[in-house]
Amino acid sequence: MSGLFGKLLDLLYPPKCAFCRRPVPGSRMLCPDCEGKLPRPSAADAVRYDIEHLALCRFPLYYTGTVRESLHRYKFRGAAAYCRIYAELMAGCLSGEQAGFDRVTWVPLSRNRLRTRGYDQAKLLAEETARLLGLPCERLLEKTRNNRAQSGTGSVQERYENVKGVYRCVKAPAGERILLVDDIVTTGATLSAAAAELTAAGAASVTGLTVAGSARNRDKTTEENGDSGNADF
Ligand SMILES: [Zn+2]
Repeated sequence: MSGLFGKLLDLLYPPKCAFCRRPVPGSRMLCPDCEGKLPRPSAADAVRYDIEHLALCRFPLYYTGTVRESLHRYKFRGAAAYCRIYAELMAGCLSGEQAGFDRVTWVPLSRNRLRTRGYDQAKLLAEETARLLGLPCERLLEKTRNNRAQSGTGSVQERYENVKGVYRCVKAPAGERILLVDDIVTTGATLSAAAAELTAAGAASVTGLTVAGSARNRDKTTEENGDSGNADF
């Protein structure tokens, strides 16, 4: 938002930090306090290599505490504006690597879910991140059916079964290096299912990028309660 109208809106509704919800100076939705305190993985822990069909997956934040609460507001309480600060953090953890990608895409919501939620949270993240990185962004996948909520499923294996075959490629990314965006990575089942489709359709490589994640088997509580990837519940 810019111009006089934007300034008026900022006066009436001062922007709040996306994490602690205190008013912030300016329009960046991250307060200096949270900037210093956010749970950021070390460089070595901010990347996962264990997800099938993905070259790797990066994330700037751990899925815990205020990050978890913030993402919940983003996904279920209409805080769509958070996509800007999330994308800034996501683009930051790819700094210098954007030349390694031809296109950005996202793990889509089902049509039903989109209708009730009003926005596709992964699409907003993909578009905003692509803009910051100077890369093209395009829908390459659709969700063909409503699977059960990932958070409501049990074991890692059940999560993989639950998302098997739910994504379909709507445009073949032949020979392209794809950056696949989602909001959260925990087991990696959702990203893996989406990446499998892109690979089958000819993508040269698929790299994951999410707002938050858990290190592999780092925290069992996170794995069990976390809404893996595009949890869709
Ligand atoms: Zn804050």
